[in-house]
Amino acid sequence: MKSRSSWAEPYKIKMVELLKMTTLSQRKKAIREAGYNTFLLRSEDVYIDLLTDSGTSAMSDVQWAGMMRGDEAYAGSRNYYNLEKAVREVYGYTYLVPTHQGRGAEHLISSILIKKGDIIPGNMYFTTTRLHQELAGGTFRDIIIDDAHDAESEHPFKGNVDLGKLEALIDQYGSEKIPYVCIATTVNMAGGQPISMSNLRAVRELTAKHGIRIIHDMTRVAENAYFIQQREPEFKRKSIARIVREICDLTDGATMSAKKDALVNIGGFLALNDQETFEEARNLVVVYEGLHTYGGLAGRDMEAMAIGIRESVDQNHMHARVGQVEYLGQRLQAAGIPIVLPIGSHGVFLDARKILPHIPQEQYPAQTLAAELYIDAGIRAMERGVVSAGRDAKTGKERFPKLELVRLTIPRRVYTQAHMDVIAESVMRVYDRRSKIKGMEMVYEPNYLRFFQARFKPL
Ligand SMILES: *Cc1c(COP(=O)(O)O)cnc(C)c1O
Repeated sequence: MKSRSSWAEPYKIKMVELLKMTTLSQRKKAIREAGYNTFLLRSEDVYIDLLTDSGTSAMSDVQWAGMMRGDEAYAGSRNYYNLEKAVREVYGYTYLVPTHQGRGAEHLISSILIKKGDIIPGNMYFTTTRLHQELAGGTFRDIIIDDAHDAESEHPFKGNVDLGKLEALIDQYGSEKIPYVCIATTVNMAGGQPISMSNLRAVRELTAKHGIRIIHDMTRVAENAYFIQQREPEFKRKSIARIVREICDLTDGATMSAKKDALVNIGGFLALNDQETFEEARNLVVVYEGLHTYGGLAGRDMEAMAIGIRESVDQNHMHARVGQVEYLGQRLQAAGIPIVLPIGSHGVFLDARKILPHIPQEQYPAQTLAAELYIDAGIRAMERGVVSAGRDAKTGKERFPKLELVRLTIPRRVYTQAHMDVIAESVMRVYDRRSKIKGMEMVYEPNYLRFFQARFKPL
């Protein structure tokens, strides 16, 4: 295990948010009232909130100062130009269209580039990204390496593209049916797993040969750059900022959810190098988000984002960010708790299938484990298994995915090492009494995205 000083926080605490401490009986009541679904808990009743890393970061004092410098003009806000400058300098993209969050940018680029019947290859799907591709008339095709779907594989770059799969799609459909390849850094649904620079270069070479664009889902690009620095020998001595820039330079445009890497609570953008596509996007954003110099954001939000972008590529920040996640993962690993390996950049994924082998998937082991973690210490995690997978649209039968996981997502700069210890110890306590834990039945099931609102009862 790495020593404590190897990832210690490169900041000190100036302001605190007090948390409500609950008793065991209060937590049992709260989770019962929430139908044993962590999405339905009130945040007030949660001690350590690991539901998501989206929009949950702590901003720096510099970002907060930036909020006070919001220029709330309808058009041409100073903060827009600061954001444009940050995107050009840090990421290297020429043109910027701000959006309210990542999906706003996905909507714009999908409606501009995708025609009915098109194929969009990608290194694993993301929920909103795939939906916008489908709504524009396209079909997503998974081109990630097989290792990404295997919880046991310890491949250092599980986000890599299988070039054979991509080439087969190009052969089958031809480049005119493939408007772009969507490349995510790091891959969220694979557990925060990175793509290597050498793989991205090969994807660039292949797509360039066929005149196909790469649109970059750059939501966690700095986290990906950190893994490249740590794992790809060529980049051992290169700064995260340089690696980020090199990744972006291999692509033609990007969608960004700034609620992740860029350390803000709301915001996103579309970035492009080609002027014609930019002009279309700048025109379309007015219909759905707002004028092209604010895209659904306040001036202060754009200022905080511009500052957050620069902070996100700092070596010490990223070392502590990923180091904290690894610290938690390594403590669990040392205790013999089954987790997905390698440990990803934004969270630790518990293997509920292995932790609760006596609970069949029909009785929702990951949902049960998430509820038990809340009862034990007020920790809120998220189910990523059969409940999230939902039902097959045609047969109406439940989908039983290979991965039955509980995601412990770590917000950036929010919790301390002591909190990581509380989490690890709570998981160990639940693990120790695992044989006594019983599964659940679903007593209410909504029609769409059931994991958000479904209700359960212990058997
Ligand atoms: C969160 C996320 C998005 C969507 O961004 P929002 O800001 O939530 O709209 C897209 N891609 C990835 C990989 C994400 O993690």
